[in-house]
Amino acid sequence: MSFNNIVGNENVKAFLDKTISENHILHSYLFSGIDGIGKTIFAREFARKLLCLEKEEEENCLSCQKYHNHNHPDFYEIKPENNSIKIEQIRQMQEKILEKPITSKRKVYIIIDSDTMTKEAQNCLLKTLEEPPEYATIILTTANESKLLNTIKSRCMKVSFEPIEKIKIEEYLKNQMQIELKEELISKSEGSIDKAIKLQEEKEIYEKVDELIEKIGKQDKIAALKQAKILYEQKEKILEILEYMNVVLYHTKEKEKWNCIQYVEQTKKRLLASSNYDMCIDYLIMNMWEEINEKYSRRSI
Ligand SMILES: [Zn+2]
Repeated sequence: MSFNNIVGNENVKAFLDKTISENHILHSYLFSGIDGIGKTIFAREFARKLLCLEKEEEENCLSCQKYHNHNHPDFYEIKPENNSIKIEQIRQMQEKILEKPITSKRKVYIIIDSDTMTKEAQNCLLKTLEEPPEYATIILTTANESKLLNTIKSRCMKVSFEPIEKIKIEEYLKNQMQIELKEELISKSEGSIDKAIKLQEEKEIYEKVDELIEKIGKQDKIAALKQAKILYEQKEKILEILEYMNVVLYHTKEKEKWNCIQYVEQTKKRLLASSNYDMCIDYLIMNMWEEINEKYSRRSI
């Protein structure tokens, strides 16, 4: 594998390759960009290259072999456990990072979804970012940069990831996964391959959501609530579905439907505050129905 096998973000590829070829390696990087555009894949490939002992001779390289066998002693990944990265995980890392590398000349840590670190964990990590061992490189990935402390961000070199061009997503899905995605779904993927794949898998759900939004202005309240059945059924996925609704509502370019985005946002908050699930959805549909149908009632006056 090399960066060339990863789709999109050519600038990032060039930058990371240059970093390695000129040996300008820093102690901390922040890979920032929306979910599903390959930040973690880039981080892993960058890590492999940083650890490599032979410069691209992957087969003869002890480090690359260990890396690919998932038993490299100088490589670690830290991920959220139950949705957050806890201070204990960072403390463990801090103890480990002080031990010198074994196989490679460097040690690399990737902190995936670093914005899920608790405040305590972030403050704790700060100590390592301020005084990292000279052989250590820490790569943080995030899709929500605003949730990271400024003091953390200021100590990392930021690498920005751009959404992937539609044509590249289309090619990738077709060639690598034998998936032919409708143009419309590719537009809704917002430049994220993961999202495009998910959209395909969940096409049926999302088609029902499309239908709900399309028909809500053309039915009475009871029919609208019936049409919203999919929302009542998909409790597990509801936050993703609501995000998707926002995208669809936004793309309609109709004022009344744009106004509905506020109700979707309200619903997200209510659900996160663990209000009664069915009631939250009832409110959402009623509010949307009223917002959209006001247009028609005004018209009929
Ligand atoms: Zn190697």
